[in-house]
Amino acid sequence: MAESKRDYYEVLGVPKNADDDALKRAYRKLAKKYHPDANPGNKEAEAKFKEASEAYSVLSDPQKRQQYDQFGHAAFEQGGGGGGGFGGFGGFDFGGDMGDIFGDIFGDIFGGGRSSRARSGPMKGANIKTSIRISFEEAVFGCEKEIEINFKETCSSCSGTGARAGTSPQTCPKCNGKGKIMYTQQSFFGQVQNVQTCPDCNGAGKVIKDKCPDCYGTGYKTVRKKFKVSIPAGIDNGQCVRLAGGGEPGVNGGERGDLLVEAVVSNHPIFKRQDTSIYSTVPITFARAALGGAIRIKTVDGDVEYEVKPGTQTDTKVRLKGKGVPSLRNRSIRGDHYVTLVVQVPERMTQAQKEALRRFDDAMNGVQTSEEEKPKKKGIFK
Ligand SMILES: [Zn+2]
Ligand SMILES: [Zn+2]
Repeated sequence: MAESKRDYYEVLGVPKNADDDALKRAYRKLAKKYHPDANPGNKEAEAKFKEASEAYSVLSDPQKRQQYDQFGHAAFEQGGGGGGGFGGFGGFDFGGDMGDIFGDIFGDIFGGGRSSRARSGPMKGANIKTSIRISFEEAVFGCEKEIEINFKETCSSCSGTGARAGTSPQTCPKCNGKGKIMYTQQSFFGQVQNVQTCPDCNGAGKVIKDKCPDCYGTGYKTVRKKFKVSIPAGIDNGQCVRLAGGGEPGVNGGERGDLLVEAVVSNHPIFKRQDTSIYSTVPITFARAALGGAIRIKTVDGDVEYEVKPGTQTDTKVRLKGKGVPSLRNRSIRGDHYVTLVVQVPERMTQAQKEALRRFDDAMNGVQTSEEEKPKKKGIFK
């Protein structure tokens, strides 16, 4: 029996070392020529079509191809002489697998690709994305929030089947439960077969004769539902918190999708953030910069005292260790807060202040002329 079968390479008319593209091209040509829809009632064409399809289904699968190269047809005979473990490959389901093969081949031609292929197995529901506005500090330290979204809740009357209580969905007669159908399409290649999602059941493979009156056959009801969202310390603008099972219902018994909550962090009037570092600018008076002394600096932990060194220049950077943002991975590790000290020049002064400053300036000039070797140490006020 195995001996009466033609060699798969011979069937497709390709050499033994043909690559995937060559196989696909050869099969595409034969499939178009011998497809039963293009040759109604022609038994010979049908036999050739099946033969080519079988050859392609084996040779296009690297594992099966290897078995075939090693053992020939015997590799796929049920209980055949090809040795124990290979019996499992036996049998070709032309009803089910053909759709996928056509989906691949003709999807390539028409640019549809894999995504256009109909599926009928359990599928996880889609994710829902929403956003929540939080303050700068809430992002730094984390917070608990509540959000309300439109949620498709499983209908309790029909347990999500969409069929009236006491009845159940029936196998779709149009696609025989496969959820996809093949159809003939005219194109510049001539008549070709394509695969589409079954329009009667939308790919579910089941149709509802007697719809559940509570959900109109959809299997769910849309309700406003509240979710508690734990925003972790250290979250940054644009990052998401995932709530498993908060998304759309699954299809054909698949699990629900997830709810993704994106953090939209408000700007802070003083603080800027980059990863786990916080930046701010603190004005200090000319006198404080020159003489030194304690100032108070605002941080996310409250005010801290900082001792300005005498002779501090404007744009001096100060690092406050551990006053930054906690790491998302480990909140006990915190970034730093970088402060830029900016020396303020007074815009308005009293007569007394002006005179004091002139005396100071004169004194500085005196220092300069007497210390020629330090010409750079000029006063700010010349
Ligand atoms: Zn229902
Ligand atoms: Zn259907």
